[in-house]
Amino acid sequence: NKVRLQAIADVEAYVAPAISFDPGEEPGEIFGSNVFSVSVMQKRLPKSVYKSVLATIEKSAPLDPLVADAVASAMKDWALEKGATHYAHVFYPLTGLTAEKHDSFLDPVGDGTAFASFSGKTLIQGEPDASSFPNGGLRNTFEARGYTGWDVMSPAYVLENPNGNTLCIPTVFISMTGEALDHKTPILRSQQAMAVHAERVLKLFGYDNSEHVVSYLGPEQEYFLIDRHFFLSRPDLINAGRTLFGAKPPKGQEFDDHYFGAIPERVLAFMMDTERELFKLGIPAKTRHNEVAPGQFEVAPMFERANQGSDHQQLLMTTFKSVAKKHGMECLFHEKPFAGVNGSGKHVNFSLGNSELGSLFVPGDSPHDNAQFLVFCGAIIRGVDLYSGLLRASVASASNDHRLGANEAPPAIISIFLGDQLADVFDQIAKGGATHSKERGTLAIGVDTLPDLTKDPGDRNRTSPFAFTGNRFEFRAPGSLQTVAGPMVMLNTIMAEALDYCATELETAVAEGTDFNDAVQALLATIIADHGKVIFNGNGYSDEWPIEAEQRGLKNLRTTIDALPELITPEAIELFSKYNVFNEREMHSRYEVGIEQYVLTVSVEANLTLEMGQTTILPAAVRYQTELAQNVAALKAAGVEADLSLLDEVSGPIADLRAALVTLASAIAHEHDSDGIVAATYLRDTVLPAMAAVRTAADTLEGLVADDLWALPTYQEMLYIL
Ligand code: ADP
Ligand code: MG
Repeated sequence: NKVRLQAIADVEAYVAPAISFDPGEEPGEIFGSNVFSVSVMQKRLPKSVYKSVLATIEKSAPLDPLVADAVASAMKDWALEKGATHYAHVFYPLTGLTAEKHDSFLDPVGDGTAFASFSGKTLIQGEPDASSFPNGGLRNTFEARGYTGWDVMSPAYVLENPNGNTLCIPTVFISMTGEALDHKTPILRSQQAMAVHAERVLKLFGYDNSEHVVSYLGPEQEYFLIDRHFFLSRPDLINAGRTLFGAKPPKGQEFDDHYFGAIPERVLAFMMDTERELFKLGIPAKTRHNEVAPGQFEVAPMFERANQGSDHQQLLMTTFKSVAKKHGMECLFHEKPFAGVNGSGKHVNFSLGNSELGSLFVPGDSPHDNAQFLVFCGAIIRGVDLYSGLLRASVASASNDHRLGANEAPPAIISIFLGDQLADVFDQIAKGGATHSKERGTLAIGVDTLPDLTKDPGDRNRTSPFAFTGNRFEFRAPGSLQTVAGPMVMLNTIMAEALDYCATELETAVAEGTDFNDAVQALLATIIADHGKVIFNGNGYSDEWPIEAEQRGLKNLRTTIDALPELITPEAIELFSKYNVFNEREMHSRYEVGIEQYVLTVSVEANLTLEMGQTTILPAAVRYQTELAQNVAALKAAGVEADLSLLDEVSGPIADLRAALVTLASAIAHEHDSDGIVAATYLRDTVLPAMAAVRTAADTLEGLVADDLWALPTYQEMLYIL
């Protein structure tokens, strides 16, 4: 087949693009150069305006509309100097993608000329029609208007394009009735809710007037790179982001020769180029390395405030996609683009704190600090145990279903890994009071009622979905394709509830005259008694764990369809309404959209499987079968005894493939009989297995059919030729 062989030849002939920058350039020179940052504002805004904006950013105060015009004017001048011709409100609809509506700065004056204008009102509020975004029943088309509003805490930036630059303004996206249609609004709301109760707890520990507590996010993004020639000859990769066919290559990841290996030159050039683009946008990309699977890599930026980090994460993904194209490669963010080798995740590193106190998940130098640390840890233990279903639901998607629990990613059971030392401390608390901590085999006796803790996070556990890693927790279940906003909203909200609980318990005890240290001990003991079951330091990949987890009463929500209903339980709705993160309608809308996305994803894949099976794989197999039959006929005609075994070997899977395609076609036809969760369940239980049967027959044929007849680039080609 010419397409495939031509693709290989084209990869062979690849010439790297010339680098467009001085390789000696200091990274600091360009960092943030396209960002309307605090320091740019300080230089360009009148002092009073600057102070007002800064208050908004640092104290989460609302933006004074009177200063908006001045900010808009300075922002416009700055953007025009940077070559911008348009501005765009960038928002994050429930598709999980990034959306933007561009408007020109130019306003016609009426005499045939135009001048550049940009008012405060246009900066703060936009009005995209945007009726085609999924809203899960929150809007009818006749009231389709949605509003976008600037998130002042996430700075505006200029996005470069050879044909003209654009000023981008990160915004929330809400309906006419003020309901959230996006992923940013709930981050801001949940952040606010968490801060209120975190600050109540801090007050009890003597911090009366500290800065606001914020949540920090450090996402580790895994991805695959393949040559674009291969990508373009795979309809499944183009349309579904993953391979629906493909036999396991003779060499997989068994040798562990890729993990942390030398980065291939072409990939390194790509990484340097992406990092430069990210730096311009003020995205602090820091770590880069090869991952476990061939062709798999990881990037991790430094942690930032959750709302800004989440915007940056979206921007990082689009930047990676576009820079990869420039380098003749395709960047795949799907959780499982290739069966049989590891999939990709997006670990969400999470902490609470502020610039004054640092991370609140860092053990301190004194028993007092440690008590505070343990209360915050206790809160997370309570939150994760009470709302494990919600955490699971926040990472539920058709594509992440291929990864979770597949012995390469955490199981679908949500548990917490604390590490030996911390687990031991909580163990002692459960037994009546902790007085010492385990430190490298010796016991250091604390001076107070709580133990001294070292800052050494201890060992690492890669199999836990939620692990303490020394100064933060790492939520490892999120998928590589997902927005980090969903998990962040859940984390903030469950922390709001748990910290509210802790603050209330402590305040009440102190008011009743209980000694503060005793109150803390009692609180922690109660939390461990009620929620200690969620702590698990063992191997999450083992066969015993699901059994033990069930005995402990932990949920095991295997698929998206099991997990999404967690969003609309009475407990979930109560939680989110109580902390003003989502009202009931908003919760239902998220649930509906989640189901809808699942149905769309699996339906597209099913149709693609059918089409590729019929039009690409079956024809190749039948041609080969014909060739073999002709060979048998020719041998017979020549009077040679013909061996039919090879022909039979091919005819078997061809018959299987045809039968599987018939079954799949009829399964797809019945899908239209239902909708919502019924359709989704049908797709999971009937259509996905029908697709798997098609794939099994097709992959068997890949190992039999003559190579020159096979049209689809193979796993070994895609994963190893770069
Ligand atoms: P590892 O692979 O060992 O887990 P990486 O260096 O790849 O670590 O990624 C760690 C991520 O955690 C980075 O994004 C880093 O900025 C982030 N991180 C570090 N400290 C914190 C913190 N206190 N809060 C949130 N994220 C953090
Ligand atoms: Mg990590």
